[in-house]
Amino acid sequence: MKILLISPEVVPFAKTGGLADVAGALPKALAELGHDVRVFLPRYQKVDPQKYKLKKLSPEIWQGKVPGSEVIVYFYENEAYFGSRADLYQVKGIDFEDNLERFTAYCQASLKLLVDLNWQPDIIHCNDWQSALTAAYLKVLHANDPFFQKTAVVYSIHNMGYLGTFPKDKLPATGLGWDQFTPDKLEFWGQIALIKAGLVYADIINTVSQAYAQEIQTEEFGHGLDGLLRSRKQDVFGIVNGLDYQLWDPAIDQNIPQKYSIPKLALKLKNKTELQKQNGLEVNETKPVIGLISRLADQKGLDILSEVLDEIMQLNCQLVVLGTGDAKYHEILQQAKQKYPQQLGLNLTFDAKLAQLIYAGSDMFLMPSRYEPCGLGQLISFKYGTVPIVRKTGGLADTVKDYDSATASGDGFVFEEYTGAALLQAVKRACSIFKKKTIWRKLQARIMKLDYSWNKSAQEYVDLYKKALSKKAK
Ligand code: ADP
Repeated sequence: MKILLISPEVVPFAKTGGLADVAGALPKALAELGHDVRVFLPRYQKVDPQKYKLKKLSPEIWQGKVPGSEVIVYFYENEAYFGSRADLYQVKGIDFEDNLERFTAYCQASLKLLVDLNWQPDIIHCNDWQSALTAAYLKVLHANDPFFQKTAVVYSIHNMGYLGTFPKDKLPATGLGWDQFTPDKLEFWGQIALIKAGLVYADIINTVSQAYAQEIQTEEFGHGLDGLLRSRKQDVFGIVNGLDYQLWDPAIDQNIPQKYSIPKLALKLKNKTELQKQNGLEVNETKPVIGLISRLADQKGLDILSEVLDEIMQLNCQLVVLGTGDAKYHEILQQAKQKYPQQLGLNLTFDAKLAQLIYAGSDMFLMPSRYEPCGLGQLISFKYGTVPIVRKTGGLADTVKDYDSATASGDGFVFEEYTGAALLQAVKRACSIFKKKTIWRKLQARIMKLDYSWNKSAQEYVDLYKKALSKKAK
């Protein structure tokens, strides 16, 4: 199959969240299954053509490869919209004014690229609102274009909370007509929601876990689009993300002070010591270290965590936070850091290398999400023998089974109710099992053996692509 994956973020070139991990790893896994898969993203300022040995195909297009593979990546060159800006979507936490224009140009370039290359993919796989317009262009502007007659579109939702909404008067900038500004098309409460271009026009819609595929069809998690999703429920699927074990494996991780594996689990302690030192915490192996790496947003459960931060600190454990996001959480955490300098490690930044040390050096990993499409932190934690403490929602519900002390089964600590009290209870349980060294080691070894490699998920994507093609053929 010929597949073009259109994603605004791709590891290692550009990342703000889990989408980038998926877009970096899924193509490699598809290529291993024998498919001709190519990737398209903007050349942001931080993508250095020299570093990645990109070559210029045309004034608008660079070509390179996903490192560690033969997968071809095309970059859209546009100095004003992408090349001259330090960040992907925002500056100082505020969205760029012209995000609609920027991603319109990118989506238009995606189809032009295919025509210029004379490469007709079977599947165009769009991801999140930034690439959704491509689906609309194909189905509206190119509906009768022989070049795209056999191309089916799959649209993946990585987070239903980001709708890509813009003022109505920007519609002409998309190149689409006012006939598209209706509730069954791109209109959303008087605005444009670009996500709808994907939800309305893709042949198949998917999201990144089965539980989340169901949840987004409910009012609670649908962000106002649950009705649209229910009306397409035959076409909505869920495939849980895999992990790229070339990048996430403590046995080969170059970014951590001490490599380790199941037979050498005791070596993990060196990473913990280093983590404690770097964060100005008391160096003490008996104190459980809880890691938290997250966008600091309501979605991620920072509100219920803030409620019980004092109680957690009283458990005699340590917490290491890495994240950026809402100013209110920066403030709450900074105040807490002053109060608990030796117990709280605070890193209000985005730092991929430090993330690896936290996964490796922590004993537990906290994800108290209000909702979570898939979540990668828990899967990474598994591989690093760092026991996840999660709320039972979306992909977290699909991947983490609660620890049961009666049968010593399960692979993390799960709480259901979205409250500080339930979170605290789960942390307490984790801390009490942590003291039972033999049981804890067994739990660590068990989770390190779990296999969330991409092979299985990539095969599921192939099946989904086939579904899209057969729908298109009808
Ligand atoms: P989301 O995509 O909603 O942000 P995921 O759990 O799917 O959440 O993916 C988040 C990814 O981003 C993980 O790989 C996580 O380690 C990484 N990450 C999040 N915040 C930071 C940060 N401040 N520094 C480094 N990595 C981060």
